[in-house]
Parts: sequence; C-alpha cells; structure tokens
Amino acid sequence: MVLDLWHRATCPSEQPRFTTKAGQHICPVPCSSHPGLGSSLLPARAVHRTWCQPPVTEPRGHEGPVHPQACSPVSLHTRCLLSSSMSPHTHPPSGSLLVSSHPSRRVERGRGEPSGVQENIERFFTRFVEEGKATVRLREPAVDVCLSKANASNLKNFLSAVRLAHQGTDIGALPLSTLVPAKNSEVEKPKTKMIITSRRDYPLTKNFPYSLEHLQASYCKLARIDMRVLCLKKLRKLDLSHNHIKQLPATIGDLICLQELNLHDNHLESFSGALCNSTLQKSLQFLDLSQNKIKALPIQFCQLRELVNLKLDDNELIRLPFKIGQLGHLRFLSAARNKLPFLPSDFRKLCLENLDLFGNPFEQPNPLVPNIQLKIPLTLLECAARATINYRIPYGCHLLPSHLCEDLEVAKTCQCGSACLSSFIQITVTMNLHHVAHTVVLVDNMGGTEAPIICYFCSLDCYSQFLDRYLQSNG
Ligand SMILES: [Zn+2]
Repeated sequence: MVLDLWHRATCPSEQPRFTTKAGQHICPVPCSSHPGLGSSLLPARAVHRTWCQPPVTEPRGHEGPVHPQACSPVSLHTRCLLSSSMSPHTHPPSGSLLVSSHPSRRVERGRGEPSGVQENIERFFTRFVEEGKATVRLREPAVDVCLSKANASNLKNFLSAVRLAHQGTDIGALPLSTLVPAKNSEVEKPKTKMIITSRRDYPLTKNFPYSLEHLQASYCKLARIDMRVLCLKKLRKLDLSHNHIKQLPATIGDLICLQELNLHDNHLESFSGALCNSTLQKSLQFLDLSQNKIKALPIQFCQLRELVNLKLDDNELIRLPFKIGQLGHLRFLSAARNKLPFLPSDFRKLCLENLDLFGNPFEQPNPLVPNIQLKIPLTLLECAARATINYRIPYGCHLLPSHLCEDLEVAKTCQCGSACLSSFIQITVTMNLHHVAHTVVLVDNMGGTEAPIICYFCSLDCYSQFLDRYLQSNG
C-alpha cells in the first residue's frame, strides 16, 4: 500500500489525480504554479511521497499499543482520527497515516498533529477503489490523501470508516479493527536504485518509482529519453549508455539533483546550449558523451561549472569549447580519438589530474607562419569591444544587441592581457600537456605529451615581441 499526500496549494487541479493504468498519478491540468519548472503536466512536482515508515511524531490519543512499525495497511482502518505525520526534510521523506479514535472531539491541527475527520472531508474519489486506489480530500490541512496498491476490501472498509467518522457517527458504531503492527515485509521501502540492462526488462506499462536516485537503462535500444524518466526529480545518477539516443530534450535540465549523466555509446550529434543554461549548471559533475557523433560543443558548454569529470572520447570533435578554462572544477578530461587539430588558447588555464588526448590529428605548430587577421586601422566596433573588456565595462542583453554580447563572450586574449575581437594575429605553439595535468596519456604512439595550442596577439608589436623571445630561445 502506498500513500501520497498532495498539497493542493501547489497544484490547483480540482480533479482526482489518478489514472487507471499502472498506478500512474497524473494531474489532469497543466500545473503552472511551480516557478522555474515549466508548465508541462508533471505531477511529481506537487507530490510529497510518503512511505509507511515509523511515524515521525507519534499520533496522540492511541488506545491500542503503539508499535514502532505500526503502519498501513493494517493500521489504516483502525481508529477514527486521520493522522498524518510527515517530514519532507528527512531523507528519504517519511511519514505515516493512521485512523484512530480520540477521547476529545476537538483536535488541534498542525504539523504532525492528527486531523479531525468529522466534517473535515471535502470529497472522496473512489472510482478506482476496485483497483485498490482512492483519494480522500481533506479540508484542513488542504491535502489530498492518495491511497494506492491497497487491498480493495481493506480499502473499502477504511473508506467507510472514514465516511462514517466524517458524518459524525458515534465512535462505538465505527467498524474499526484492533491495531496490529505491520510486519517488516509488508512495509514498502522507497526504491532508490534501478538497473536495467536489456530491452526486455525495460518497463513499458509500469511507472518508474518516484523515489529513484540512480537509474541505469543500458542496451535498451532507446531512440529518445523517456518522458517518465524526466519526472524523476530525485535522480542523481542517470545512465543511458549503449542506446540509440539522437537528441537530448531540454527538460533534462529540470532534473535538479542530477550529478552524473552517462550517455556513452549513443547517436548524439549535438549537446544543446539550452541544457548548458539549465539547472545542470549547479549539479552536474560527471558527464560521459563518449562514443557519439558530436562535432562541436556549444559556447555555453563552459557554464557547466561544477563538472569534475568529462569524457568526450570517440566523437568527431573538431574543436574543444573556446572557454574551456572556465571549468575550474574539472579534474578528469578525456577527448581521445577525435578530430582536434589544436587546443583552444583557454586550455592552458585548466588544472587537471588526468588528461587523455590520444589519437587526435594534431597539426605541427609553426609560430613563424602566423594567421594574420589584423585590420589596421581598427574598426570602431573592434575599438569599442576591446575597451569594453579591457576596462571591464558591464554589458548585457538589456544594453546591447544580443549578437554583440555573443561576440564579446568569445573575445580573444592577447599574450599581453588585452582583449581582441575580430582583429588579431593567430599562431599555434607547442604546449607540454604536463603544464595542465598531473597525469597525461601519450598523445600519439611516438611517446609525445605535447600538443599544439592557439595563441592570439592584439597587435604587430605584441607578435614581434613574442617572435624575438621565440627566436632567442630556439637559437
Ligand atoms: Zn597584446
């Protein structure tokens, strides 16, 4: 037997939140009262799931023995006060529901206190009682008590007791049974982990438990991410490796606890900027995109500031994110077997424990052959952009056209520390990867740990100073 408490204040629907199939709890109207969470019908946002665990606060007024494991289904049809105690702040949330008798008719109501049943029930939803499901809508507190997976006849007994109590029937006349503690085996524990490794085991008609924190669904031939998975707001680890997923829905960003996302061996061709701007920015620490078909990552990728471990091996990347140096927590980076000709200049800001860039077609750097994009005199736009960055003048989309903001985001930095936008000299130089990583996997079969990295110069002066130093040190 499963008990859900719906706080009506967060979900304005006047409908019972049940469907017939598979115990799904579906809110029939779009729920727009949850800021920042979109407006799709995701009932999980409004529900506080409770399990039949030992009560947090012991309901008052028990006549029978109080047993620490006293809980539904047995205790549900026992007395005539409806008491619920729950603590959404514990992990996992726990609570209990009892119907018990109480010597006084007047009952204080509050957190963890029993709710009087008499004239406190707004409505019963009993259409699916034969399937072991029903909802009791209380006036105060304003919650819907949703019961599911119950024995149908026990549930009917329970509901008739509650109905009689609501009508003010004398306690002695209520069909109550003795409080018998439930056995441990009858108590449904919240399921936090589910591992599926074949298509045969993938649930098609049943819902995933809302309590899941770790879900693996590998080798299931999934072509897209199941919307039901996106409702699992407690997910910390999601492993969808070895499937056929081509695109990621932006709503993955609604999984506010997601720390690990494994998409190894899928058919992804991109990773959207919207995902990088989502709540994943604050939670995502592990991202495995290896063995896909990704050609480039969006500029916003470096907003995923909490990333510690990033796997990009076996893709078709022709460049790494321009501002990769912003990933200050990154410690493990692998991008082996891609199509990288060189590394972005920001790469030197990284501070890694482990780096693997094996098997990329790195170009041979030659600082004496510059790519000159310098336009003299500088355009007004270039001057303004340089000044904006060099003098740290605040800007934003409320002040500037968005394309200018985007251009400023990708401004280059010269060796002298100044910024340049589209007028610069670019060269590639050799960098020993040990400068940015403690352990470096060899770049090629020749035993090298060096790779070409881009350098920018804002002026001919800066470039010629660099050349002087370079020629001196190379004899
Ligand atoms: Zn310069």
